Amino acid sequence: MAPVFLKSITKAYGAFEAIHDIDLEIEDGAFVVLVGPSGCGKSTLLRMIAGLETISRGEVLIDGEVMNDVPPKHRDIAMVFQNYALYPHMTVAENMGFALRLAKVPAAEAAEKIRTSAAVLGLTDLLDRYPRQLSGGQRQRVAMGRAIVRNPKVFLFDEPLSNLDAALRMQMRVEIAELHQKLGTTMIYVTHDQVEAMTLATKIAVVNKGRLEQVASPVRLYERPQNLFVARFIGSPQMNILPARAADGGGAARLLDGSRIALPWPLPLGEDGELSVGIRPEALLIADDGALGGRVTLAEHLGGLTLVHIALTDGAPVVLQAVGAPTVAVGDLVRLRVDPAGLHLFDPDGRRIAK
Ligand code: ATP
Repeated sequence: MAPVFLKSITKAYGAFEAIHDIDLEIEDGAFVVLVGPSGCGKSTLLRMIAGLETISRGEVLIDGEVMNDVPPKHRDIAMVFQNYALYPHMTVAENMGFALRLAKVPAAEAAEKIRTSAAVLGLTDLLDRYPRQLSGGQRQRVAMGRAIVRNPKVFLFDEPLSNLDAALRMQMRVEIAELHQKLGTTMIYVTHDQVEAMTLATKIAVVNKGRLEQVASPVRLYERPQNLFVARFIGSPQMNILPARAADGGGAARLLDGSRIALPWPLPLGEDGELSVGIRPEALLIADDGALGGRVTLAEHLGGLTLVHIALTDGAPVVLQAVGAPTVAVGDLVRLRVDPAGLHLFDPDGRRIAK
């Protein structure tokens, strides 16, 4: 186990800065997930930690040591990629032991490491099989086995599940979480799948255009997004965002259609000041006395949950998430109440207006 520190890290490709001056502290044993839209710089950050990419400015420290000029194989890290290409002519045991052989680990010691790692991953009965005789999930587990046998200080994962189908992804997600619990090793994981991020992470770092937007626990990110970018990025379905103006001496937000949402805390804005109101889909409730009005445009029944799409009076689309199957039909006029627990306010620069 080891902490990882990124100190004012910058990565420039020619004149283009893919990463701008990022500071990130990853504690011993943490599971940090880097998320962000395509091209935001997640993989570049991970590759700099791995030593597969040079660092233009700043420092990477693993276990207190500056790693900038240390080659990847001496960083005591193991990386699991999306394309985990196993050697087809080697058995599971040989694939897992390959790195140990290169490192000239004595055969008996290597065999023991392979045995214990296989047990952790549920691969004990498959050690003599070849990759072609394995399912996709089993292959992915062997790829993880190759990383585990080396007993690294830090695991790095770059979208390891993105080639798997939905059911297998879910199963492997649980296995990775259990692996982290068992090993307690520091893990840094890149994904654009926010379910993976929310369920695996002890801490999520939201990256946007080479900068960190917010670093916090999954629950904290969901409940107190610092800005509109994080508010939109974390949560599925997305938070509803509506333009509004301050009203009633800061005690309410007036939407474009004139309806007013009473606020649980006063706005530090003058009358008519601009803001954005964010409402989580589960914080919109169908209620006859609701402050907002709209018309149902679609109801998506997902089993235990229903997503009701509604066009507000001014036409703005919102999504409501209800438990069970509310009796609404397309075309129905409904009133909506807002649960203050899922209400978020942002200033015109997109910054959270704090309670
Ligand atoms: P994705 O989710 O699509 O994999 P990402 O967040 O991992 O994206 P990176 O691969 O880290 O993004 O790329 C960050 C930015 O750096 C992108 O704009 C990309 O085009 C750019 N970039 C990456 N590698 C190079 C390179 N070798 N030369 C120039 N630009 C690069």
